[in-house]
Amino acid sequence: MIGLGLMGSGIAELIARSGRRVAAIEINQDYLDQGMTRLRGSLDKAVSRGKLSEADRTDILDRIRPTTDIAAGAAEADLVVEAIPERMELKRALFEQLDAACRPDAILATNTSSLSITEIAGGTRYPERVAGLHFFNPAPVMKLVEVISTVLTSPEVAQTLALLARDLRKTPVKVDDRAGFVVNALLVPYLNHAIRLLETAQATREDIDKAMTVGLGLPMGPLTLLDLIGLDTDLAVLETLQDAFGGTRYRPAPLLRKLNDARLFGRKTGRGFYDYQRQSVPADGDQAPVPAEVAVIPDPEGRMDELVSQITAAGISVVWQPSDQTGLVIVAADPKHRVLDAALAAGHPADVVGIAFVAAGNGKPGLAEIVLPDVTAADTAAKAAALAARIGLNAIICRDRPGFITEALAYVQFNDAVRMVQDGYASAADIDTAMMLGCGYPRGPLEMLDEAGAANVASVLEAMHAATGDPAFTPVPMLAEYATAGSKFRG
Ligand code: NAD
Repeated sequence: MIGLGLMGSGIAELIARSGRRVAAIEINQDYLDQGMTRLRGSLDKAVSRGKLSEADRTDILDRIRPTTDIAAGAAEADLVVEAIPERMELKRALFEQLDAACRPDAILATNTSSLSITEIAGGTRYPERVAGLHFFNPAPVMKLVEVISTVLTSPEVAQTLALLARDLRKTPVKVDDRAGFVVNALLVPYLNHAIRLLETAQATREDIDKAMTVGLGLPMGPLTLLDLIGLDTDLAVLETLQDAFGGTRYRPAPLLRKLNDARLFGRKTGRGFYDYQRQSVPADGDQAPVPAEVAVIPDPEGRMDELVSQITAAGISVVWQPSDQTGLVIVAADPKHRVLDAALAAGHPADVVGIAFVAAGNGKPGLAEIVLPDVTAADTAAKAAALAARIGLNAIICRDRPGFITEALAYVQFNDAVRMVQDGYASAADIDTAMMLGCGYPRGPLEMLDEAGAANVASVLEAMHAATGDPAFTPVPMLAEYATAGSKFRG
């Protein structure tokens, strides 16, 4: 194991836990000590939680040989895994060194997240033995390993690495060398999209995060996740994707660059999208009073029925025709259409909000997206928020743009996932596995797409494209075809 940083110490631990011997190699004694301290800390935690016995900890540590001598450490290895910093010149220099130091039949694997493995392999004498073995952070916990082959990698090498991953109780997904592999190619542009929604004031950072945790069931909202990954790391991966694929989807959001310029990298520097040093003070409880009467515009599809019964149960009277006395007018919001048109039809546009319900699935309460056309009066928004709080809706507030927040972020990512299938890069099943195990998705993007319906997803994307002109929102041909045929990606 070369490099005992964040990733390397975890990978060394994992491999030693499986009963294999590991040479743990660092650039100097200080970093070696730091890496071993991190590794021991992780084992100590497992012991104190009763997940590892004292005897096993001793055995695991006995199998690890810390050293700063690369040549001696790697000479006998069957497999070398590299997790040194993400810089091509460092990786190339290291692989040249390994080329000379290792047995010719040793496998050389890189844990790179975004560099070209083909380029790393290109400088070696036996490129057929070079492959990617991409673990996720924290390596001992996360179940996914992407096994990446270049055009030069021998199939036996990829097969051996996949078998090793299984033996480490991980699930391997085998793919070719392409920027971002599966997970980062889907995750990172989605995160960038979330930053764009924030910087164009579509919703607050908290509401954008809530849209994805409550609305889609993700373990963490995109802006919280960005702070965890590190905005510098995220920008580097995005730039790699931009170089590889071009187009608007991978163009870093100006706000991402600005935060990087300000060195606000997220948790590791104490501040990114959120401030981790200062407790944020909740806005003063100057809440608008709950209106005594609301008008609900009848919806032929019955999408307002449940809401109406909740409003009446809270003792608020509901009328079906707004008048000048009505405090608040609610229309059913559909992510394919603007709420504005319904607001104009209702005759009192300044008093209108749209509400879209996003079912959470899993028996959990869903999300209500309260959608505000730009012509809505400021106090109307406050009244809607007060009403939502009174009847206990799990709500967010967003502007009236097609897709709103949850669908906008999710469906464009689903479209990216379909493009991957369309390109023959990865199967629908592998993509779903990768996102569930690599990002904690409750269900994979293609399974969720099937559930939402290809035709529905394609229409929302078309509406987003029509409203913004952004070509990244156009449904890819395969999605359009599945929409027409009513087909499913996960049979
Ligand atoms: P890190 O900075 O925490 O660790 C890198 C370590 O490598 C440092 O301890 C450094 O001293 C050591 N090092 C540098 N040059 C060396 C050399 N020539 N020989 C031996 N050791 C050397 O970085 P990290 O976050 O662990 O990332 C390492 C690799 O893993 C990168 O390629 C990164 O893209 C990839 N990766 C990171 C994550 C993540 O979430 N951090 C996830 C997956 C993959």
